[in-house]
Amino acid sequence: MRKFGLIGYPLGHSLSKVIHKAGFESIGVDASYELLETTPDSLVDRVKWLKMNDYEGINVTIPLKLPITLFVNEVDPYADIARAINTVLIMPDKTMKAYNTDVLGFRRAIPADVNLRGIKVGILGTGGAAHAAVVALAESGVSEISMFTRNIPNSIELMKYFRRKFPEIIFEVYQIESIRDLSRFDMIVNATPIGMLGRSADLMPLEPEAMRTIQKDAIVYDIIYNPMKTLLLKEAENLGLRTINGLDMLIYQAICAQEIWFNRTPDFNTMKIAALQNLR
Ligand code: NAP
Repeated sequence: MRKFGLIGYPLGHSLSKVIHKAGFESIGVDASYELLETTPDSLVDRVKWLKMNDYEGINVTIPLKLPITLFVNEVDPYADIARAINTVLIMPDKTMKAYNTDVLGFRRAIPADVNLRGIKVGILGTGGAAHAAVVALAESGVSEISMFTRNIPNSIELMKYFRRKFPEIIFEVYQIESIRDLSRFDMIVNATPIGMLGRSADLMPLEPEAMRTIQKDAIVYDIIYNPMKTLLLKEAENLGLRTINGLDMLIYQAICAQEIWFNRTPDFNTMKIAALQNLR
């Protein structure tokens, strides 16, 4: 049996195992997928262990999306530009190739009728998922990306970095706590964990007054997948806004990982049903 898994910490609520197993079955691959809790301190030993035990691929989550960079031999362009790794292919000679499938996962989850060309997007958060969203949106031809952060000094370098990578796009950084007027945006993306189950499910990353300034044909995209309908999305729906939740992104980033591991595409619906059956 071929071996795959997820490393990160904590992994208690992860849906990756059920989604990937459903995907393996849909393409007839005989493989296991284990949740392998790994802290940054134990990453060296974990990488050795994965290689010794003939693992062929892993997914990587918080807090290892950056630290894993130290162990990989090759980095694909999306992981490079997004400065975050979420998928690794371990070759028979034990070298490791790194990828970021959150970029395509984020993009593929946006319905085909949504035209991203020329639009203005506000992204809440500046972490790994926000980086992936920036790369996906920049590649899709948006005209402006404003990032909202708790820590402007820490995010200035990131903003300058993206300005260098995508010179045709306007990048700005603003303080997240001082958001008042969102009327200039065509899309708002929540890439913070605010609203996640078990952490802050009763919270929203935006004040209701600020939400009321969002234009009526704008889209609110919350990449949190548990709960599927966060408080932010409920409030957006109440205001008559179009919404996208994070579940399809989760499925698509897993599909992209299996495409890298097997060169085959697992079945979206099979994986989504498995996820829905295991969402609490
Ligand atoms: P991360 O790297 O830790 O980044 C989190 C970001 O949120 C940081 O910018 C952080 O700001 C900000 N933040 C955290 N708490 C905040 C608060 N109370 N107020 C304002 N900002 C806050 O995490 P990530 O990997 O980007 O993940 C973010 C979310 O996306 C998680 O909920 C995760 O589950 C979800 N996600 C979903 C998918 C999917 O497939 N649907 C994929 C990846 C991630 P500071 O830098 O100031 O701490």
